[in-house]
Amino acid sequence: MIIKSADFVKSATRPANYPPGDFKEVAFAGRSNVGKSSLINVLVNRRGLVRTSSTPGRTQLLNFFDINGEFYLVDLPGYGFAKVPLAVKKQWGPMVRTYLEGRENLRALLLLFDIRRVPQQEEIQLLDWLEELQVPTIPIITKVDKITRSRRERQILPILEATGLPRDAFTLFSALTREGRDEIWERIDAALDD
Ligand code: GDP
Repeated sequence: MIIKSADFVKSATRPANYPPGDFKEVAFAGRSNVGKSSLINVLVNRRGLVRTSSTPGRTQLLNFFDINGEFYLVDLPGYGFAKVPLAVKKQWGPMVRTYLEGRENLRALLLLFDIRRVPQQEEIQLLDWLEELQVPTIPIITKVDKITRSRRERQILPILEATGLPRDAFTLFSALTREGRDEIWERIDAALDD
């Protein structure tokens, strides 16, 4: 994928505020701090397009980005951040579920897993929704540079077990080394072509 342009379009919380669904799109979801902003920035070669989150967003938004004037990337709100107020936490499920249910131009969801963490209830719930709503899933394991190569396969066993997904469903990614970037683009391209 050659990135000619990558521009923030708008934020939204509800369908009335989504940009028109003229373009196909793929969305990104994951626990806060999983490396979602870093992944999107590496994919589009823009260091600061998506803010990386040392501070948690108090307001949780869906952020739409226009790529090459051809398709959208959608950054879904991160979840599981301890410091987010309960009222904001409670909005996450309905907001994401509404998006997944109603967004007809959505072609796939990239679901991110930190290589050092065991998936929690939110990841499993998302996987259930994606299956129910027949949204193709592209699972990514992030921050793989944090684990030596020889230990990686053992390290990801709990992720395979918790998700029930086969090993070859996952792409391993590092924002530091950019390992996995080309493979992720291939999978996004394939999803957008469908
Ligand atoms: P987000 O909350 O999911 O958007 O996560 P961020 O992209 O803001 O990343 C959270 C923290 O993890 C930041 O300190 C990043 O620098 C760090 N990080 C993200 N991706 C990687 C990675 O692939 N390797 C390493 N070593 N650190 C990463």
